[in-house]
Amino acid sequence: METKKLFGKPVAKHIKSEIDFKINQLFLKGITPGLAVIIVGDDAASKVYVKNKQRAFERMKCYSKVFKLDSTTRQKEVEKIISKLNVDQKFHGILVQLPLPSHLNTKRIIQMINPEKDVDGFHPENVGKLSIGIPLFVPCTPLGIIEMMKFYKIKVEGRHVVVIGRSDIVGKPIFSMLIQKMNYGNGTVTMCHSRTKKLSYHVKQADVIIAAVGVPNIITKDMIKKGADIIDVGINRVADNSERGYHLCGDVDFDSAIGIANTITPVPGGVGVMTITMLLYNTVLAASQA
Ligand code: NAD
Repeated sequence: METKKLFGKPVAKHIKSEIDFKINQLFLKGITPGLAVIIVGDDAASKVYVKNKQRAFERMKCYSKVFKLDSTTRQKEVEKIISKLNVDQKFHGILVQLPLPSHLNTKRIIQMINPEKDVDGFHPENVGKLSIGIPLFVPCTPLGIIEMMKFYKIKVEGRHVVVIGRSDIVGKPIFSMLIQKMNYGNGTVTMCHSRTKKLSYHVKQADVIIAAVGVPNIITKDMIKKGADIIDVGINRVADNSERGYHLCGDVDFDSAIGIANTITPVPGGVGVMTITMLLYNTVLAASQA
């Protein structure tokens, strides 16, 4: 069987052209979509993510401002900044870069964000709306997965989808979306996690595998049903002898899936490309609704 590789770039390009049209409509009304990003501390990976987000906003002529706070910043101070941003009309979206230092109460900080500016879709109000099928803001990575599935015509309705990983950022929201009685839902979805027994038994039943674990190559050849569609969300660094000292790989053993799966998203180059594009999408949506 020939396995088709599903790349993120053409999907992101397609979404960006839609966003570009909406941004120009907003410009005509004198509105520039704006995002406030709060980053606390010096986590190296977070700094890279924030820089990439800023660059993407600049490229689309949108406004973004980073609020860089010291790693010792107190809870009250972060909450005060969010309260101000909640009513600042320059910012249609507010994003708190995670993870936060351990002395901060992440859940409380997320709950402080005005749900109408919660472009990451992590506020309980937005989580609840998604779970009852009236979504406002959906977390960017699962939203990107849905857009990839739409673009490449990966059917969900009536098929058995197995999601591996139950995080609030990827696993739970994609589960919520795929079970809804709506377009790009209607799947029969099984959720696997770290306490699941016989993981390979469950994954082997899947018509669609969505792996969001963070363990390199945890999904092996013997777990994949012939003709399955695979969405690999994992981004794992594996040390090697290259100049960089590491390479990236997904949660699925990519090489061994070739020839068995119908389709697979590569890592890098697959789902990872979509996340920032969907952040732009959500921010433009927030600006349109403001
Ligand atoms: P997380 O650590 O919050 O969650 C991982 C989940 O995997 C947990 O729910 C856990 O129950 C499950 N798990 C752990 N070990 C398991 C096992 N042995 N068997 C079955 N389930 C197991 O991670 P996350 O934030 O959801 O991220 C998951 C992966 O996706 C990471 O590699 C991350 O880098 C990647 N990611 C990519 C993007 C993107 O833009 N493409 C965005 C977010 C996360």
